[in-house]
Amino acid sequence: ARAFNFSAGPAMLPEAVMRKAESEFLDWQGTGMSVMEMSHRSKEYMSVAHKMEADLREVMVIPDNYKVLFIHGGASMQFAAIPMNLAQQNDTVDYLNTGVWSTKAIKEASRFATVNVIAGGQEANPTEVPSIEDWNFSKDAKYIHICSNETITGLELQDEHFDAVFAQGKPVIADMSSNIMCREIDVSKYAMIYAGAQKNIGPAGLAIVIVRQDLLGNARSDTPTLLNWDTYAENESMFNTPATYAWYLAGLVFDWIKNTGGVKAISKINESKASKLYDFIDASDFYSNSIKVSERSWMNVTFNLKNTELDADFLEQSKSAGLLSLKGHKAFGGMRASIYNAMPEEGIDALIDFMKKFALENA
Ligand code: PLP
Repeated sequence: ARAFNFSAGPAMLPEAVMRKAESEFLDWQGTGMSVMEMSHRSKEYMSVAHKMEADLREVMVIPDNYKVLFIHGGASMQFAAIPMNLAQQNDTVDYLNTGVWSTKAIKEASRFATVNVIAGGQEANPTEVPSIEDWNFSKDAKYIHICSNETITGLELQDEHFDAVFAQGKPVIADMSSNIMCREIDVSKYAMIYAGAQKNIGPAGLAIVIVRQDLLGNARSDTPTLLNWDTYAENESMFNTPATYAWYLAGLVFDWIKNTGGVKAISKINESKASKLYDFIDASDFYSNSIKVSERSWMNVTFNLKNTELDADFLEQSKSAGLLSLKGHKAFGGMRASIYNAMPEEGIDALIDFMKKFALENA
């Protein structure tokens, strides 16, 4: 039986996806080989790749004037690629700091451009987004970078934050690694969206970059070939050998999203899953969550036991109950239940039942 895996990433994938991959593992559609064993230039593999991109475009409603690039190196490699592709060393770029992932993006961008931090950065793990009144945009920024969901704390930007950023009229870049496709978004408002795959997309080993075409062709001259988005845009992301099996599995996930009713249907489920868990935590005097209520993440639900001496028991017993990887990130402590698209509602119910029982037994 499959456990409910609350890992922040690599994370649980939909069971239907795993079963489909299993059924095709040794012999993909009568070819006598696994997708893993195919030449990436073969007609069979190209059909897998084209369907994957078409399905992603459909589920995210990506306009035709955007390129979709599939890039090795995870989201972290884009921390450098973004300034290299969009700015020169003397240019100013604006970054909002909402936590650890924003900080990492800022640190890397600082090597290639002058970073203006719009707000934040005083605390490593803030529990709320800096108040919009305190945001300081620079006049001449080449772009504005945000992290739409801070995975470690479970802090998610809200409509008012996006509106304030879009109102600047500058190219907006978003790290959506941990909440891409968790709800509907209007891609046309962004200059570039990127995400590491290992949460809502598929297995690790790949990042998705969605970039407006007019932003291509501007990379600084010393940009390494494989960091230059043009390389991917001009070669269907196959300048060198891509992570073929990761692409295939991501394609199965996009297909699953379509079959589940699309991102709209999934977002309703996500909202219900997250609110059920937060409501339970809020009603309990045994557990607590420290994130500002209106900015809590749908994807990463952090919580603490009031008596932290029970943390080890909680983790051991939850694991025995088939509830895996609930330990919070070491930088933030406590517990974290990552409940990405693939986590079924039954997983939330099982977690709440366990938490109730544990609280009763240890009250
Ligand atoms: N950005 C966010 C919000 C993340 O959660 C992560 C990983 O957890 C990353 C970036 C880095 O992703 P990768 O490991 O694919 O480089």
